[in-house]
Amino acid sequence: MLNAVRNYLSHLATRRPETWRPLLAVYYLTYACEFRCPFCSDGSGTPYHRLPSPILDGPEVLALLARIRRASDHLVLTGGEPLSHPDVDHVLEHLPALRFDGVVFTTRGPGLSPHLPAVARSIRKLVISIDTLDERKADRWLGRGTGSLRRVLEEADAAARYPGRSYEIVVSSVATPDNLTDLLGVYDYARSRGFGFALCPQLRGVKAHEELHGNADYRRLYDLLIAEKRRGAPIFGTVQYLEYMRDLRKFDCRPSAVLAVSPTGDVFYPCLELGHVAGNLRQEPDLDRIRRMGQDKFGPEPSCDTRCHSACALSLSLALNHPHTLLHELALRTKAAVAGFGGGPRS
Ligand code: SF4
Ligand code: SF4
Repeated sequence: MLNAVRNYLSHLATRRPETWRPLLAVYYLTYACEFRCPFCSDGSGTPYHRLPSPILDGPEVLALLARIRRASDHLVLTGGEPLSHPDVDHVLEHLPALRFDGVVFTTRGPGLSPHLPAVARSIRKLVISIDTLDERKADRWLGRGTGSLRRVLEEADAAARYPGRSYEIVVSSVATPDNLTDLLGVYDYARSRGFGFALCPQLRGVKAHEELHGNADYRRLYDLLIAEKRRGAPIFGTVQYLEYMRDLRKFDCRPSAVLAVSPTGDVFYPCLELGHVAGNLRQEPDLDRIRRMGQDKFGPEPSCDTRCHSACALSLSLALNHPHTLLHELALRTKAAVAGFGGGPRS
């Protein structure tokens, strides 16, 4: 908590911080993934599963995470498919010793059940990706044969039923020109089970897919989510964030609010999307020195007009540029808690 407050205030104090003060660290446990989602793309447009993915073993990952912990109170463990890391349980079981304030774990889902005891020990938010409930389309997109979507849904149910679970479950979807009408059903599914919901546009490289700009179905979807959010539904992002996503509106990016680290400890500067590696956190434990190395190699943090509408880049930039929106979010969450917001029908 202390890091988060100090880091937030330091971003408010200066637009071009000399030191690295992340509000969130994102660690890619592995880029490997057995699925083949057609929209999968890193900042350069390459699907994660095509990236070379050397990995660290469990103890090495934990040593790296201990260095990340010095700078950030909050962690996202992602991939690729993080469940495909051979030591994922070892990492999750020992993670509580690092005392992150909150850990988010993202997964596509199949094969999750055996890992649930380790997930339950260490994770606050379990994010499961579901982009359509159309079985044929989902199975085709996942590229692992028939029954893939069914396995995802079974695993989500198993995660929800896990005895005494302390993690929230969030369904995360990517809006593409080919699933916009499916996503209402995905939202209703999440809602009916009391799961949270997060929606992002498909990115091609760092830009939202061109067919989403001005797309009436895409806008309608976000309008619905904004209305649901105002009712107190557990939808990721502030109302302002959802409006920016709906309009794919330009924003002033604050990339150093996120610390993005590759499977082997490379630190991206200023952001994963631009793909520059400033240094390696296993070789150089001083994050501020890595930042200076990045500035020397690639120049000062850019005033970026790239507008990549990734959840991290947009949500944290808006939180820094418009702090009052956090108060609105707090008010909505309080309202939802007081009203005991549940999984009833949407308006
Ligand atoms: S599950 Fe994620 S990492 Fe794997 S192919 Fe799909 S989008 Fe890419
Ligand atoms: S908009 Fe932000 S996250 Fe995207 S490329 Fe620019 S600096 Fe990086």
